Amino acid sequence: HGIEESLEVHHSLQHLKAAMDTLSNSLAAADIAHTLHPNTNLRLHEKNGPLVIARGDGIHVYDDRGKEYIEGLAGLWSVGVGFSEKRLADVAYKQMLKLPYYHTFSSKGHEPSIRLAEKLAEMTPEPLTRAFFTSSGSEANDTIVKMVWYMNNALGRPKKKKFLSRIKGYHGITIAAGSLTGLPVNHKDFDLPAIPVHHLTCPHFYRFGTEGESEADFTARLLAELEAVILSEGADTIAALIGEPLIAAGGVLPPPVGYWEGVERICRANDILLVADEVICGFGRLGTPFGCQKYGFTPDIMTLSKQITSSYMPLAAIMLSEPIYQVIADNSEKLGIFGHGFTASGHPVATAVALENLAIMEERDLFGNAARLEGVFQAGLRSFADHPLVGEARGTGLIGAVELVADKPTRRPFAKVGRAGQIASAIGHEEGLIFRAIGDQLALCPPMIITEDEVGELMARMDRTLERLTGAVA
Ligand code: PLP
Repeated sequence: HGIEESLEVHHSLQHLKAAMDTLSNSLAAADIAHTLHPNTNLRLHEKNGPLVIARGDGIHVYDDRGKEYIEGLAGLWSVGVGFSEKRLADVAYKQMLKLPYYHTFSSKGHEPSIRLAEKLAEMTPEPLTRAFFTSSGSEANDTIVKMVWYMNNALGRPKKKKFLSRIKGYHGITIAAGSLTGLPVNHKDFDLPAIPVHHLTCPHFYRFGTEGESEADFTARLLAELEAVILSEGADTIAALIGEPLIAAGGVLPPPVGYWEGVERICRANDILLVADEVICGFGRLGTPFGCQKYGFTPDIMTLSKQITSSYMPLAAIMLSEPIYQVIADNSEKLGIFGHGFTASGHPVATAVALENLAIMEERDLFGNAARLEGVFQAGLRSFADHPLVGEARGTGLIGAVELVADKPTRRPFAKVGRAGQIASAIGHEEGLIFRAIGDQLALCPPMIITEDEVGELMARMDRTLERLTGAVA
Protein backbone atom coordinates (compact mmCIF):
# COMPACT_ATOMS: atom_id res chain seq x y z
CA HIS A 1 0.00 0.00 0.00
CA GLY A 2 2.78 2.40 1.03
CA ILE A 3 4.70 1.75 -2.16
CA GLU A 4 1.58 2.34 -4.30
CA GLU A 5 0.94 5.60 -2.52
CA SER A 6 4.45 6.85 -2.99
CA LEU A 7 4.34 5.74 -6.64
CA GLU A 8 1.18 7.79 -7.03
CA VAL A 9 2.89 10.82 -5.47
CA HIS A 10 5.85 10.18 -7.72
CA HIS A 11 3.59 10.08 -10.78
CA SER A 12 1.74 13.23 -9.90
CA LEU A 13 5.07 14.98 -9.32
CA GLN A 14 6.17 13.77 -12.75
CA HIS A 15 2.96 15.19 -14.24
CA LEU A 16 3.53 18.47 -12.44
CA LYS A 17 7.10 18.64 -13.68
CA ALA A 18 5.99 17.84 -17.25
CA ALA A 19 3.29 20.51 -17.03
CA MET A 20 5.86 23.05 -15.78
CA ASP A 21 8.24 22.10 -18.57
CA THR A 22 5.48 22.56 -21.17
CA LEU A 23 4.58 25.95 -19.76
CA SER A 24 8.18 26.97 -19.62
CA ASN A 25 8.86 25.65 -23.12
CA SER A 26 5.87 27.46 -24.55
CA LEU A 27 6.90 30.67 -22.77
CA ALA A 28 10.41 30.31 -24.13
CA ALA A 29 9.08 29.64 -27.62
CA ALA A 30 6.75 32.64 -27.44
CA ASP A 31 9.60 34.80 -26.21
CA ILE A 32 11.90 33.70 -29.01
CA ALA A 33 9.12 34.27 -31.55
CA HIS A 34 7.94 37.69 -30.41
CA THR A 35 10.30 39.58 -28.09
CA LEU A 36 13.17 41.83 -29.13
CA HIS A 37 15.30 41.89 -25.97
CA PRO A 38 17.18 45.03 -24.94
CA ASN A 39 20.96 44.77 -24.56
CA THR A 40 21.04 41.23 -25.92
CA ASN A 41 22.80 39.28 -28.66
CA LEU A 42 19.55 38.47 -30.43
CA ARG A 43 20.82 35.53 -32.54
CA LEU A 44 22.36 33.92 -29.46
CA HIS A 45 19.08 34.47 -27.63
CA GLU A 46 17.16 32.65 -30.37
CA LYS A 47 19.41 29.64 -29.71
CA ASN A 48 19.52 29.72 -25.91
CA GLY A 49 16.12 31.18 -25.06
CA PRO A 50 15.27 33.32 -22.04
CA LEU A 51 15.90 32.87 -18.34
CA VAL A 52 12.33 33.44 -17.17
CA ILE A 53 12.14 34.87 -13.65
CA ALA A 54 8.85 34.01 -12.04
CA ARG A 55 8.93 35.52 -8.56
CA GLY A 56 11.04 37.25 -5.96
CA ASP A 57 11.59 37.13 -2.21
CA GLY A 58 13.99 39.40 -0.32
CA ILE A 59 17.36 39.39 -2.10
CA HIS A 60 16.33 36.26 -4.06
CA VAL A 61 14.54 35.60 -7.33
CA TYR A 62 13.22 32.25 -8.62
CA ASP A 63 13.01 31.11 -12.22
CA ASP A 64 9.97 29.40 -13.73
CA ARG A 65 11.38 26.01 -12.75
CA GLY A 66 11.66 27.07 -9.13
CA LYS A 67 15.45 27.49 -9.04
CA GLU A 68 16.62 30.10 -6.52
CA TYR A 69 19.19 32.82 -7.25
CA ILE A 70 20.72 35.61 -5.19
CA GLU A 71 20.02 38.72 -7.27
CA GLY A 72 23.55 40.08 -7.01
CA LEU A 73 22.75 43.12 -9.17
CA ALA A 74 19.40 44.01 -7.55
CA GLY A 75 17.75 43.64 -10.97
CA LEU A 76 19.41 46.49 -12.84
CA TRP A 77 21.20 48.06 -9.85
CA SER A 78 17.87 49.18 -8.57
CA VAL A 79 15.75 46.99 -6.29
CA GLY A 80 16.95 48.51 -3.02
CA VAL A 81 14.25 47.16 -0.71
CA GLY A 82 14.34 43.67 -2.23
CA PHE A 83 11.81 41.72 -4.24
CA SER A 84 8.94 41.23 -1.78
CA GLU A 85 8.10 44.58 -0.16
CA LYS A 86 4.36 44.35 0.43
CA ARG A 87 4.06 47.96 1.59
CA LEU A 88 4.91 49.15 -1.93
CA ALA A 89 2.24 46.88 -3.43
CA ASP A 90 -0.32 48.20 -0.93
CA VAL A 91 0.51 51.84 -1.62
CA ALA A 92 0.28 51.31 -5.39
CA TYR A 93 -3.08 49.54 -5.01
CA LYS A 94 -4.52 52.27 -2.78
CA GLN A 95 -3.28 55.03 -5.07
CA MET A 96 -4.82 53.27 -8.09
CA LEU A 97 -8.17 53.14 -6.32
CA LYS A 98 -8.00 56.78 -5.24
CA LEU A 99 -6.47 58.50 -8.27
CA PRO A 100 -4.87 56.12 -10.78
CA TYR A 101 -3.68 58.86 -13.06
CA TYR A 102 -3.45 62.54 -13.32
CA HIS A 103 -1.01 64.74 -15.14
CA THR A 104 1.08 67.70 -14.07
CA PHE A 105 0.74 69.88 -17.22
CA SER A 106 -0.79 73.39 -17.09
CA SER A 107 -0.43 73.85 -13.31
CA LYS A 108 -2.34 70.65 -12.45
CA GLY A 109 -0.96 68.58 -9.59
CA HIS A 110 -1.61 65.82 -7.11
CA GLU A 111 -0.36 65.05 -3.63
CA PRO A 112 2.15 62.23 -4.29
CA SER A 113 4.07 64.21 -6.92
CA ILE A 114 4.08 67.40 -4.82
CA ARG A 115 5.19 65.58 -1.67
CA LEU A 116 7.91 63.71 -3.52
CA ALA A 117 9.33 66.94 -5.01
CA GLU A 118 9.35 68.43 -1.52
CA LYS A 119 10.99 65.30 -0.06
CA LEU A 120 13.73 65.19 -2.72
CA ALA A 121 14.51 68.89 -2.26
CA GLU A 122 14.94 68.13 1.44
CA MET A 123 17.14 65.03 0.89
CA THR A 124 19.48 66.22 -1.85
CA PRO A 125 22.44 68.61 -1.32
CA GLU A 126 21.60 72.19 -0.64
CA PRO A 127 21.58 74.04 -3.96
CA LEU A 128 19.03 71.58 -5.40
CA THR A 129 15.51 72.85 -4.85
CA ARG A 130 13.33 71.83 -7.83
CA ALA A 131 12.21 68.48 -9.17
CA PHE A 132 11.08 67.56 -12.68
CA PHE A 133 9.81 64.00 -13.14
CA THR A 134 10.18 61.55 -16.02
CA SER A 135 9.73 57.78 -16.28
CA SER A 136 13.32 56.80 -17.05
CA GLY A 137 16.89 57.89 -16.53
CA SER A 138 17.35 58.35 -20.28
CA GLU A 139 14.37 60.71 -20.53
CA ALA A 140 15.73 62.60 -17.53
CA ASN A 141 19.15 63.09 -19.12
CA ASP A 142 17.59 64.07 -22.46
CA THR A 143 15.52 66.59 -20.55
CA ILE A 144 18.63 67.97 -18.82
CA VAL A 145 20.27 68.59 -22.21
CA LYS A 146 17.15 70.46 -23.37
CA MET A 147 16.87 72.44 -20.13
CA VAL A 148 20.50 73.53 -20.31
CA TRP A 149 20.13 74.58 -23.97
CA TYR A 150 16.90 76.42 -23.13
CA MET A 151 18.65 78.16 -20.24
CA ASN A 152 21.65 79.28 -22.29
CA ASN A 153 19.45 80.56 -25.12
CA ALA A 154 17.45 82.51 -22.54
CA LEU A 155 20.70 83.96 -21.16
CA GLY A 156 21.73 85.11 -24.65
CA ARG A 157 24.57 82.54 -24.91
CA PRO A 158 23.42 80.54 -27.96
CA LYS A 159 26.93 79.15 -28.54
CA LYS A 160 27.22 77.60 -25.05
CA LYS A 161 25.71 74.20 -25.92
CA LYS A 162 28.37 71.47 -25.82
CA PHE A 163 28.44 68.75 -23.18
CA LEU A 164 31.47 67.09 -21.69
CA SER A 165 31.15 63.46 -20.68
CA ARG A 166 33.54 60.55 -20.10
CA ILE A 167 34.52 57.45 -22.06
CA LYS A 168 32.67 54.49 -20.46
CA GLY A 169 30.17 56.80 -18.72
CA TYR A 170 26.57 55.60 -19.04
CA HIS A 171 23.70 58.07 -19.22
CA GLY A 172 21.04 56.14 -21.12
CA ILE A 173 20.19 55.41 -24.73
CA THR A 174 17.79 58.03 -26.12
CA ILE A 175 19.15 60.45 -28.73
CA ALA A 176 20.73 63.02 -26.40
CA ALA A 177 21.36 60.76 -23.37
CA GLY A 178 22.76 58.07 -25.66
CA SER A 179 25.11 60.69 -27.11
CA LEU A 180 26.36 61.49 -23.59
CA THR A 181 26.99 57.79 -22.95
CA GLY A 182 30.59 56.88 -23.73
CA LEU A 183 30.26 53.22 -24.71
CA PRO A 184 30.86 52.24 -28.36
CA VAL A 185 28.12 49.58 -28.40
CA ASN A 186 25.51 52.26 -27.61
CA HIS A 187 26.73 54.47 -30.51
CA LYS A 188 27.73 52.16 -33.32
CA ASP A 189 25.20 52.10 -36.18
CA PHE A 190 22.75 54.20 -34.16
CA ASP A 191 24.24 57.39 -35.67
CA LEU A 192 25.28 58.60 -32.22
CA PRO A 193 26.57 60.90 -30.85
CA ALA A 194 23.95 63.19 -32.38
CA ILE A 195 24.52 66.24 -30.17
CA PRO A 196 27.73 68.19 -29.59
CA VAL A 197 29.55 66.19 -26.92
CA HIS A 198 33.21 65.60 -26.11
CA HIS A 199 34.15 62.40 -24.28
CA LEU A 200 37.03 62.83 -21.86
CA THR A 201 39.44 60.06 -20.81
CA CYS A 202 37.85 57.44 -18.58
CA PRO A 203 38.87 58.03 -14.95
CA HIS A 204 39.84 54.40 -14.30
CA PHE A 205 43.41 54.14 -13.04
CA TYR A 206 43.85 50.38 -13.58
CA ARG A 207 43.06 50.58 -17.31
CA PHE A 208 43.85 54.17 -18.27
CA GLY A 209 46.80 54.92 -16.00
CA THR A 210 50.13 54.63 -17.84
CA GLU A 211 53.16 52.65 -16.75
CA GLY A 212 54.97 54.25 -13.83
CA GLU A 213 52.22 56.82 -13.31
CA SER A 214 50.94 57.24 -9.73
CA GLU A 215 47.22 57.60 -9.04
CA ALA A 216 47.77 61.28 -8.16
CA ASP A 217 49.69 61.79 -11.44
CA PHE A 218 46.81 60.14 -13.28
CA THR A 219 44.33 62.55 -11.70
CA ALA A 220 46.56 65.49 -12.60
CA ARG A 221 46.73 64.28 -16.22
CA LEU A 222 42.92 63.98 -16.44
CA LEU A 223 42.46 67.47 -15.00
CA ALA A 224 45.05 68.90 -17.41
CA GLU A 225 43.16 67.25 -20.26
CA LEU A 226 39.90 68.84 -19.08
CA GLU A 227 41.54 72.27 -18.99
CA ALA A 228 43.08 71.76 -22.42
CA VAL A 229 39.73 70.74 -23.94
CA ILE A 230 38.03 73.80 -22.45
CA LEU A 231 40.80 75.99 -23.82
CA SER A 232 40.69 74.52 -27.32
CA GLU A 233 36.90 74.33 -27.63
CA GLY A 234 36.32 77.61 -25.79
CA ALA A 235 34.54 77.88 -22.45
CA ASP A 236 31.86 79.94 -24.19
CA THR A 237 30.86 76.82 -26.20
CA ILE A 238 30.69 74.34 -23.30
CA ALA A 239 27.47 74.25 -21.31
CA ALA A 240 27.92 71.39 -18.86
CA LEU A 241 29.91 68.37 -17.74
CA ILE A 242 27.92 65.26 -16.85
CA GLY A 243 29.27 62.30 -14.92
CA GLU A 244 28.32 59.46 -12.65
CA PRO A 245 30.14 59.96 -9.32
CA LEU A 246 31.29 56.34 -9.82
CA ILE A 247 30.92 55.00 -13.36
CA ALA A 248 28.67 51.98 -12.84
CA ALA A 249 27.31 50.36 -16.00
CA GLY A 250 30.66 51.01 -17.71
CA GLY A 251 32.27 48.50 -15.31
CA VAL A 252 32.06 49.88 -11.74
CA LEU A 253 34.97 52.32 -11.90
CA PRO A 254 35.66 54.38 -8.76
CA PRO A 255 37.37 57.68 -9.69
CA PRO A 256 41.01 58.31 -8.78
CA VAL A 257 41.82 60.31 -5.67
CA GLY A 258 41.14 64.05 -5.96
CA TYR A 259 39.38 63.72 -9.32
CA TRP A 260 35.98 65.23 -8.54
CA GLU A 261 37.31 68.10 -6.44
CA GLY A 262 39.51 69.07 -9.40
CA VAL A 263 36.73 68.68 -11.95
CA GLU A 264 34.42 70.84 -9.85
CA ARG A 265 37.06 73.56 -9.44
CA ILE A 266 37.74 73.70 -13.21
CA CYS A 267 34.03 73.72 -14.10
CA ARG A 268 33.32 76.57 -11.65
CA ALA A 269 36.27 78.60 -13.00
CA ASN A 270 34.88 78.26 -16.54
CA ASP A 271 31.15 78.73 -15.86
CA ILE A 272 30.40 75.13 -16.84
CA LEU A 273 27.49 73.44 -15.08
CA LEU A 274 28.17 70.22 -13.21
CA VAL A 275 25.59 67.44 -13.62
CA ALA A 276 25.78 64.44 -11.29
CA ASP A 277 24.08 61.41 -12.80
CA GLU A 278 23.11 59.64 -9.58
CA VAL A 279 20.80 57.09 -11.20
CA ILE A 280 22.84 54.25 -9.64
CA CYS A 281 24.98 56.05 -7.01
CA GLY A 282 22.03 57.87 -5.42
CA PHE A 283 20.05 56.74 -2.37
CA GLY A 284 22.82 55.29 -0.29
CA ARG A 285 24.52 52.91 -2.70
CA LEU A 286 28.05 54.22 -2.06
CA GLY A 287 27.56 54.44 1.70
CA THR A 288 26.61 58.15 1.59
CA PRO A 289 23.11 59.44 0.74
CA PHE A 290 24.34 60.60 -2.69
CA GLY A 291 27.50 59.70 -4.59
CA CYS A 292 28.64 63.33 -4.94
CA GLN A 293 28.92 63.45 -1.14
CA LYS A 294 31.27 60.47 -1.16
CA TYR A 295 33.63 62.29 -3.51
CA GLY A 296 33.17 65.79 -2.13
CA PHE A 297 31.55 67.79 -4.92
CA THR A 298 28.30 69.69 -5.28
CA PRO A 299 26.39 69.48 -8.55
CA ASP A 300 24.09 72.11 -10.11
CA ILE A 301 21.84 69.40 -11.51
CA MET A 302 21.25 65.81 -10.42
CA THR A 303 19.63 62.82 -12.13
CA LEU A 304 17.84 60.29 -9.91
CA SER A 305 16.04 57.04 -10.76
CA LYS A 306 16.18 53.29 -10.03
CA GLN A 307 16.35 53.12 -6.21
CA ILE A 308 13.95 56.09 -6.04
CA THR A 309 11.15 53.47 -6.27
CA SER A 310 13.36 50.37 -5.91
CA SER A 311 12.19 49.91 -9.54
CA TYR A 312 8.72 48.83 -8.39
CA MET A 313 7.46 51.59 -10.71
CA PRO A 314 9.27 53.43 -13.52
CA LEU A 315 10.30 56.89 -12.31
CA ALA A 316 13.18 59.36 -12.57
CA ALA A 317 13.72 62.86 -11.26
CA ILE A 318 15.88 65.79 -12.27
CA MET A 319 16.90 68.06 -9.42
CA LEU A 320 17.81 71.64 -10.36
CA SER A 321 19.46 74.42 -8.41
CA GLU A 322 17.37 77.52 -7.82
CA PRO A 323 19.36 79.85 -10.16
CA ILE A 324 18.84 77.45 -13.08
CA TYR A 325 15.16 77.17 -12.28
CA GLN A 326 14.81 80.96 -12.20
CA VAL A 327 16.18 81.37 -15.72
CA ILE A 328 13.90 78.62 -17.05
CA ALA A 329 10.89 80.15 -15.27
CA ASP A 330 11.57 83.61 -16.73
CA ASN A 331 11.89 82.13 -20.20
CA SER A 332 8.63 80.18 -19.85
CA GLU A 333 6.89 83.46 -19.11
CA LYS A 334 8.49 85.09 -22.12
CA LEU A 335 7.60 82.19 -24.47
CA GLY A 336 4.19 81.42 -22.98
CA ILE A 337 4.99 78.05 -21.36
CA PHE A 338 7.92 75.73 -20.57
CA GLY A 339 7.19 73.59 -23.62
CA HIS A 340 8.45 70.25 -22.36
CA GLY A 341 6.85 67.42 -20.37
CA PHE A 342 5.69 63.81 -20.47
CA THR A 343 2.23 62.27 -20.08
CA ALA A 344 3.65 60.34 -17.12
CA SER A 345 5.66 63.24 -15.55
CA GLY A 346 5.09 62.78 -11.81
CA HIS A 347 2.70 59.82 -12.32
CA PRO A 348 0.71 59.47 -9.07
CA VAL A 349 1.24 55.72 -8.63
CA ALA A 350 4.99 55.96 -9.32
CA THR A 351 5.48 58.96 -7.02
CA ALA A 352 3.34 57.43 -4.25
CA VAL A 353 5.47 54.28 -4.45
CA ALA A 354 8.65 56.40 -4.36
CA LEU A 355 7.52 58.17 -1.18
CA GLU A 356 6.75 54.88 0.56
CA ASN A 357 10.01 53.35 -0.69
CA LEU A 358 12.04 56.27 0.68
CA ALA A 359 10.13 56.02 3.98
CA ILE A 360 11.03 52.31 4.22
CA MET A 361 14.68 53.08 3.42
CA GLU A 362 14.68 55.65 6.20
CA GLU A 363 12.86 53.50 8.79
CA ARG A 364 15.20 50.56 8.19
CA ASP A 365 18.24 52.80 7.83
CA LEU A 366 19.20 51.14 4.56
CA PHE A 367 21.69 53.89 3.66
CA GLY A 368 23.31 53.07 7.02
CA ASN A 369 23.17 49.35 6.20
CA ALA A 370 25.21 49.97 3.03
CA ALA A 371 27.77 51.94 5.05
CA ARG A 372 27.92 49.26 7.77
CA LEU A 373 28.30 46.36 5.31
CA GLU A 374 30.79 48.15 3.07
CA GLY A 375 33.68 46.59 5.02
CA VAL A 376 32.59 42.93 4.66
CA PHE A 377 31.32 43.40 1.12
CA GLN A 378 34.49 45.05 -0.15
CA ALA A 379 36.72 42.61 1.77
CA GLY A 380 34.80 39.74 0.14
CA LEU A 381 35.38 41.23 -3.29
CA ARG A 382 39.06 41.99 -2.64
CA SER A 383 39.57 38.36 -1.59
CA PHE A 384 39.17 37.45 -5.29
CA ALA A 385 42.11 39.69 -6.25
CA ASP A 386 44.50 36.72 -5.86
CA HIS A 387 42.58 34.60 -8.35
CA PRO A 388 44.70 34.00 -11.49
CA LEU A 389 41.95 35.35 -13.81
CA VAL A 390 41.15 38.46 -11.77
CA GLY A 391 43.06 41.57 -12.83
CA GLU A 392 41.34 43.97 -10.47
CA ALA A 393 38.73 43.65 -7.70
CA ARG A 394 37.26 47.07 -6.96
CA GLY A 395 34.31 49.00 -5.63
CA THR A 396 32.98 51.06 -2.78
CA GLY A 397 29.89 50.92 -0.56
CA LEU A 398 27.62 48.10 -1.75
CA ILE A 399 28.79 48.07 -5.37
CA GLY A 400 31.81 46.39 -6.91
CA ALA A 401 33.27 44.35 -9.74
CA VAL A 402 36.00 41.91 -10.60
CA GLU A 403 37.72 42.38 -13.94
CA LEU A 404 38.79 39.18 -15.67
CA VAL A 405 42.02 39.23 -17.66
CA ALA A 406 43.84 36.77 -19.90
CA ASP A 407 47.22 37.65 -18.40
CA LYS A 408 47.40 39.04 -14.92
CA PRO A 409 50.93 40.58 -14.82
CA THR A 410 50.47 42.52 -18.08
CA ARG A 411 46.72 43.15 -17.52
CA ARG A 412 46.12 41.82 -21.04
CA PRO A 413 42.39 41.44 -21.72
CA PHE A 414 40.95 38.35 -23.41
CA ALA A 415 41.23 38.35 -27.21
CA LYS A 416 37.48 37.85 -27.60
CA VAL A 417 36.09 40.37 -25.13
CA GLY A 418 32.97 39.20 -23.34
CA ARG A 419 33.38 35.45 -23.80
CA ALA A 420 34.85 34.82 -20.34
CA GLY A 421 32.19 37.11 -18.88
CA GLN A 422 29.45 35.13 -20.58
CA ILE A 423 30.84 31.81 -19.38
CA ALA A 424 31.15 33.22 -15.85
CA SER A 425 27.56 34.41 -16.02
CA ALA A 426 26.32 30.94 -17.03
CA ILE A 427 28.31 29.25 -14.24
CA GLY A 428 27.02 31.90 -11.83
CA HIS A 429 23.46 30.95 -12.75
CA GLU A 430 24.24 27.30 -12.00
CA GLU A 431 25.68 28.35 -8.65
CA GLY A 432 22.54 30.38 -7.88
CA LEU A 433 24.02 33.84 -8.40
CA ILE A 434 23.02 36.53 -10.84
CA PHE A 435 25.55 39.26 -11.53
CA ARG A 436 26.09 41.44 -14.56
CA ALA A 437 28.85 40.61 -17.01
CA ILE A 438 29.95 43.87 -18.62
CA GLY A 439 32.31 42.46 -21.19
CA ASP A 440 34.68 40.58 -18.89
CA GLN A 441 33.91 42.66 -15.82
CA LEU A 442 31.57 40.97 -13.35
CA ALA A 443 29.51 43.55 -11.48
CA LEU A 444 27.81 43.16 -8.12
CA CYS A 445 25.30 45.57 -6.61
CA PRO A 446 22.97 43.62 -4.29
CA PRO A 447 19.70 44.87 -2.79
CA MET A 448 20.30 47.36 0.04
CA ILE A 449 18.43 45.10 2.50
CA ILE A 450 21.15 42.45 2.30
CA THR A 451 22.43 41.12 5.65
CA GLU A 452 25.99 40.24 6.63
CA ASP A 453 25.21 36.50 6.39
CA GLU A 454 23.74 36.99 2.94
CA VAL A 455 26.85 38.91 1.82
CA GLY A 456 28.82 35.85 2.98
CA GLU A 457 26.61 33.51 0.93
CA LEU A 458 26.83 35.79 -2.13
CA MET A 459 30.64 35.81 -1.91
CA ALA A 460 30.71 32.00 -1.45
CA ARG A 461 28.71 31.57 -4.65
CA MET A 462 30.99 34.04 -6.45
CA ASP A 463 34.00 32.15 -5.18
CA ARG A 464 32.67 28.83 -6.53
CA THR A 465 31.87 30.53 -9.84
CA LEU A 466 35.42 31.87 -10.20
CA GLU A 467 36.92 28.51 -9.17
CA ARG A 468 34.97 26.71 -11.88
CA LEU A 469 35.74 29.47 -14.39
CA THR A 470 39.46 28.73 -14.33
CA GLY A 471 38.91 25.35 -16.00
CA ALA A 472 36.13 26.61 -18.25
CA VAL A 473 38.05 29.40 -20.03
CA ALA A 474 41.31 27.48 -20.30
N1 PLP B 1 22.11 57.07 -16.01
C1 PLP B 1 22.74 56.07 -15.37
C2 PLP B 1 23.90 56.39 -14.47
C3 PLP B 1 22.31 54.76 -15.52
O1 PLP B 1 22.96 53.76 -14.90
C4 PLP B 1 21.19 54.49 -16.34
C5 PLP B 1 20.70 53.12 -16.50
O2 PLP B 1 21.33 52.16 -16.13
C6 PLP B 1 20.58 55.56 -17.01
C7 PLP B 1 21.06 56.84 -16.80
C8 PLP B 1 19.44 55.34 -17.93
O3 PLP B 1 18.30 55.00 -17.24
P1 PLP B 1 17.09 54.24 -17.97
O4 PLP B 1 17.59 52.86 -18.30
O5 PLP B 1 16.00 54.27 -16.96
O6 PLP B 1 16.75 55.03 -19.19
